[in-house]
Amino acid sequence: MLPLKEKDKPIVQKLLSAGCCARCILRFCCIRAQAVYRQPQQDTLRELQAFICNTENSKSQDSAASVSTEENNKSHDAAVSEAPEDPPSKRAKLEPSETDAQAEEDAAAVVKLRGEESRVCVVCLGILQEFCGTPQAVKIAETVKAENYEFDSLVLSVSLPAQLCVREHSCWLHVKKEVREKGSVLDKDDVIQVKEAFKWIMQGLVAKELGGVSVVTRSAFEVGVEFTHEATDSDCHFLASACPDCFKPTKNKQSVFTRMAVVKALEKIPDARFLRLYPCPPAQPSSCCSLQDIQCLHVSVFVAGRYNKFCRSLPQTPWVIDGERRMESSVEELIAAPLLSAFRADGFNFSSSGREDVDVRTLGNGRPFAMELLNPHKSRFSRVEMKQLQETINKSSDKIRVRDLQIVSREAMSRMKEGEEEKTKSYTALIWTQKPIQREDIVFIDDIKELTLDQKTPLRVLHRRALAVRQRVIHSMNTRFLDPHHFYLGLKTQAGTYIKEFVHGDFGRTKPNLCQLLKTDTDILELDVESVDVDWPPALPE
Ligand code: ZN
Repeated sequence: MLPLKEKDKPIVQKLLSAGCCARCILRFCCIRAQAVYRQPQQDTLRELQAFICNTENSKSQDSAASVSTEENNKSHDAAVSEAPEDPPSKRAKLEPSETDAQAEEDAAAVVKLRGEESRVCVVCLGILQEFCGTPQAVKIAETVKAENYEFDSLVLSVSLPAQLCVREHSCWLHVKKEVREKGSVLDKDDVIQVKEAFKWIMQGLVAKELGGVSVVTRSAFEVGVEFTHEATDSDCHFLASACPDCFKPTKNKQSVFTRMAVVKALEKIPDARFLRLYPCPPAQPSSCCSLQDIQCLHVSVFVAGRYNKFCRSLPQTPWVIDGERRMESSVEELIAAPLLSAFRADGFNFSSSGREDVDVRTLGNGRPFAMELLNPHKSRFSRVEMKQLQETINKSSDKIRVRDLQIVSREAMSRMKEGEEEKTKSYTALIWTQKPIQREDIVFIDDIKELTLDQKTPLRVLHRRALAVRQRVIHSMNTRFLDPHHFYLGLKTQAGTYIKEFVHGDFGRTKPNLCQLLKTDTDILELDVESVDVDWPPALPE
């Protein structure tokens, strides 16, 4: 028994004769009992037909409103404005002919529908007819199984052709007026969405085919089902001239008729205008939607750690100049390769707390980094497994080494970038001096504290950074004499200080600089990062 009320009768009648499928009619009657959608649609259709044939109790109260001709509406409006209640004489006069007309229409609708149970629905274009059943659930489950994901729950998402919104709007207008005349309102938001009904029917079936996995509303694993219907794509086109500002071309989209844009336009367009430009109810489609694609997507997993770089010819990220690759590898690729294969991910995004030049080593505890692994097919790793993965990375190359490798949350990653400018970094630089020096000539440097530098954007990065003067602080320095032309300079600085430029002066663009302090030309021969003082990710026991 369908949970329909007397007030639903005109909706059922109108939509049946408009060519809506049984489940779409349930949607427009705002029925939220999921089980009703799951029963075979032929059964629902028969029940709906029986429901409208059973007019005994309702005839007298329903007939006036159930024939919706313009003339009837006009006379009704007039009656309301002229006199609050219909005069009995007028009502008596109208009733017999309308009742006859209604009975005829009912009978005609039933006959028509008996022969056309397989007709493609004018609203859902067959999605709630052809695509809601075990064969489709099997197809979805097969796709999921073939991709070999590791998951224990999934969320089913549905992508529908945008014109479904236009058709839905048309049908809603088709019944709205009538419902309003009966003294109630049909809020568009109360109509059950096609998506919703589809999920109510399919979730259980898909779950069953996947051996009882739970199909839920929120999960890290999403199975997307995409429908298209080329034959009715042009349904949306009239909206572009009616609401041009809703349809701005965007770079990444193939069509301006996105679902979002169409929904926005439908909110703006006045009912009268819509009805002039689009048939109401919508025209009968000759074919069903097609199931374009079934896509599986797992949310990203984030892996963090610290890396050392022991090589002076390894860039942090692939180094490409004019489309040509300069170095055969990079820090991110060396770390990513074992992670991609272990997580069976489609790709990655690498980020780190600052970066070093290709010829700079990163020693000490290393530099914090995080890697977003895209669409991982496997996402759960124990501490021990992560430790093994770290070993795999470390064995794969002697140019880098990672530590503290761990899975982190997306939110935790922001800690790496937080207050980056305020953090301190320690370096060791090998310095060359033009004038010969003695041990005593450089010791005064050890006493310099909190030296503020004005650094114009270095010439070597000017092609990718805006010209600016930035103030940076060298907190402290220490020296280690090597020979009359060389010494080691240790520096503890504010993050973002350009060390090379501080040493050679960058043609006076960094002031003060080491040349000024030592009153001779100086240059930097080697640079090592000794520590990056960011306390994230948490250190793990070795
Ligand atoms: Zn339908």
